[in-house]
Amino acid sequence: MFLFNPKTYRGQHPDQHTNEMLQAVVGWFEAKGLKSLKKDWHEKTWNYEFVDFMKSHQVLATLMTPQGYGEGAAWNTLRNVEFAEIAGFYGITYWYTFQVSMLGLGPVFNGDNEQVKQRAAQLLKDGAVFAFGLSEQEHGADIYSSSMQLIPQADGGYVARGSKYYIGNGNEAALVSTFGKNSETGDYVFFVVDSKHEKYECVKKTTNTQNYVAEFRLHDYPISDDDILSVGRKAWDDMLNTINYCKFNLGFGSIGICTHALYESIDHAASRILYGKQVTDFPQVKRLFTDAYCRLVAMKLFSYRAVDYLRCASREDRRYLLFDPIVKMKVTMEGEKVIAELWDVIAAKGFEAEPFFEIAAEEIAALPKLEGTAHVNMALIVKFMKNYLFAPVDYPEIPHRTDLADDTFLFHQGPTRGLGDIHFHDYDRTYRQFDLPNIEVFKTQIDGFKKLLITAGPDEQQVRDIDYMLSMGELFTLIVYGHLILEKALMEGTDPDLLNQLFDVFVRDFSAYATGLHGKPGNSEAQRELILGLIQAPVADAGQFDRIWREHVYALNGQYEMGD
Ligand SMILES: Cc1cc2nc3c(=O)[nH]c(=O)nc-3n(C[C@H](O)[C@H](O)[C@H](O)COP(=O)(O)OP(=O)(O)OC[C@H]3O[C@@H](n4cnc5c(N)ncnc54)[C@H](O)[C@@H]3O)c2cc1C
Repeated sequence: MFLFNPKTYRGQHPDQHTNEMLQAVVGWFEAKGLKSLKKDWHEKTWNYEFVDFMKSHQVLATLMTPQGYGEGAAWNTLRNVEFAEIAGFYGITYWYTFQVSMLGLGPVFNGDNEQVKQRAAQLLKDGAVFAFGLSEQEHGADIYSSSMQLIPQADGGYVARGSKYYIGNGNEAALVSTFGKNSETGDYVFFVVDSKHEKYECVKKTTNTQNYVAEFRLHDYPISDDDILSVGRKAWDDMLNTINYCKFNLGFGSIGICTHALYESIDHAASRILYGKQVTDFPQVKRLFTDAYCRLVAMKLFSYRAVDYLRCASREDRRYLLFDPIVKMKVTMEGEKVIAELWDVIAAKGFEAEPFFEIAAEEIAALPKLEGTAHVNMALIVKFMKNYLFAPVDYPEIPHRTDLADDTFLFHQGPTRGLGDIHFHDYDRTYRQFDLPNIEVFKTQIDGFKKLLITAGPDEQQVRDIDYMLSMGELFTLIVYGHLILEKALMEGTDPDLLNQLFDVFVRDFSAYATGLHGKPGNSEAQRELILGLIQAPVADAGQFDRIWREHVYALNGQYEMGD
């Protein structure tokens, strides 16, 4: 799978309209140029220009109008994530405007209010942006404690009272989907407000960033039944189900940022001469670049394969509920590692005002923290460990999905319970199709991990200790990560040398995670011994490393530079 390059990018979607629209997005950024991009970023100018452009090309309307709400409309995850990757390539501000719009529209299209759905479809055509009002200053990840109130009035209707914190697009959104509780019944409720209404106060920008992350306050904002999207358990499920398909975009934003940073870094290092030598000739620089490249390719292979599972999801096949938090949590944290590795190479250049890298260095860290922290997502992932590793079942093959279909199921995901009932197909069947040296080492690590779980698995106290389970979850996640990467590699015919190099990184990462688990207090002697057995080295192959370095990594030198 090739990295996105604006110079060579041609959409591969089956319809010309999508390809032309995405091409126009790329063209808009390239015409804007790096100088202007950085000026806006430094001056923290909100992306009004981009929103205007998106209106003129009906970008958000095309991406986010579901089937039935416009001519030829379809909510298509593949083109949505491709847009997320492209927007991320130019900076999180642009990605975030799209992202929080999708979050804002989720409770509308998941909800029960047909009138608001029609309103939202019209607003999309009008070029509006949207917002998702869930978070509160006091409660953070504890969304059960929402204190936004919807207060019933004697003469019918309600008023909304309370505030929300960290709300993207809270300055401009035409509809802000707001989560709260009915003050009399305590039932959860989702309703919409307009950021331009006189009872809506955009109190302040909470972050010192280019994007607008608002605190807003509703001062007895009048709400009628026409504004209510869902109530009770349905409102709760709609909130979580919205986050399910929106947090998926985080991984793609991260891929975009890392790709741009990689082009810039390799150009810089390759053209810099120190002690009469190209910086790219230092062995540690080759290793850092190659690791960063492998991580980025892995991020992309996993995430795009996960798209197929999301698009094929149904009430009977909810495997996406494991692959989705991995895109959110693992891919975005891998993105942080990519930027850290590149930054180690380009050093002072990473602080300079003119290159893109400064944006990447600052913004990459936000992604694991949005829409549920990495911890919250990892706590979700470990719930699937037993069924994934020990109780596989057969499923029909999931194909690569490039069709135009609307991903209707996302709006009908149903109750968010029953995660323990979800089973997976046999990961081992995929791993068995490969006998590359580092995949063989990785297989022994997987076997060792299973042996640990079977013979000296976490006791009751360790299961209750989130810190312990998070550490264990890192090992489990890497097994799932490798699985979907290999599925995608089979479909794409990925270069075996490259795959083997990817697993060189994974074997080392698995060993590092095992070292972390080994150091946890409370391990029994038997656990310690088995965990030590997980620490292994990849199979050294200098020739292969050199080929990957020359043909894949150094080959990126001069391939893309954003003009002024
Ligand atoms: C730039 C930015 C934009 C945002 N945009 C929006 C938006 O548009 N709309 C919106 O509603 N929200 C938005 N958020 C809020 C975001 O979703 C929250 O930051 C997130 O839910 C976590 O809350 P918190 O940061 O206050 O962390 P806290 O809740 O204070 O968490 C503290 C610590 O506790 C841990 N923790 C919490 N719960 C658990 C658990 N169950 N298991 C294990 N560990 C746990 C966390 O991992 C963290 O380490 C945004 C945040 C940022 C930073």
